[in-house]
Amino acid sequence: MLTGKYTSQLSDKQIEQLKLFAQLLQDHNKYLNLTRITEIDQIWTRHFEDSLQALAVLETLRLPGRKNSLIDIGSGGGFPALVLAVALPDWNIVSVEATGKKARFQHTAAEKMGLNNVDIYPERAEILANQFDFRGQFDAAVTRAMGRLSIISELTMPFIKTGGKFICWKGPKLDQELIAGKAAIELLGGRDINIIPYNLPGVADSDYKLLEATQVSPVPGQYPREYKTIKASPLG
Ligand code: SAM
Repeated sequence: MLTGKYTSQLSDKQIEQLKLFAQLLQDHNKYLNLTRITEIDQIWTRHFEDSLQALAVLETLRLPGRKNSLIDIGSGGGFPALVLAVALPDWNIVSVEATGKKARFQHTAAEKMGLNNVDIYPERAEILANQFDFRGQFDAAVTRAMGRLSIISELTMPFIKTGGKFICWKGPKLDQELIAGKAAIELLGGRDINIIPYNLPGVADSDYKLLEATQVSPVPGQYPREYKTIKASPLG
């Protein structure tokens, strides 16, 4: 398996957990269609190392004596939620995935990996975001491969506490999404937008970026709107 900056820092136990996750992905992908990436080195780089890029930002949120919390919106086969749950055993991780069979796979994988710091919800983000136990409750809300910035910010930011972080993974399309995306993030109470470019081992000419923003005030109560409205009239 091909390791990078973050995967090479994992303990033996964490590496064993991720090896098992890779095996489960390969086995279940045959009928669940969880990912297009099925070759083992590619799973380690394009899924595991990629998911762990958020650690640089998440470590800045860590406060001694307190359990941090993170929510992942649209986690699919478990990215980045389950990978971050392996890497951050002292964080509470919540994984939200609308498609029941994908959420069930995550449940099975988390159980087999012995993860006791992750809860998986087979639910839509815009429903959970209006529930008392979820809204404004998390130190960080993250999302990867979920679409345009102006749409995913509305689905993801309502979960963040004031002072917490919004983090999303982006590729080359970020440049064309950025003007509307920044306007949406600011309307939703986010500031200090920062874009962190990164490379993955063995991936030539990669143009990957992590976007982070700080939630400086609560998301206005009317957001998120219904999904069909979000899609038809994105913010920004
Ligand atoms: N984050 C994963 C990754 O990086 O591989 C999965 C990305 S996949 C392209 C997007 C996932 O988001 C799908 O599994 C879909 O079911 C889920 N999804 C889409 N809209 C959602 C919503 N409003 N709430 C929760 N999940 C949603």
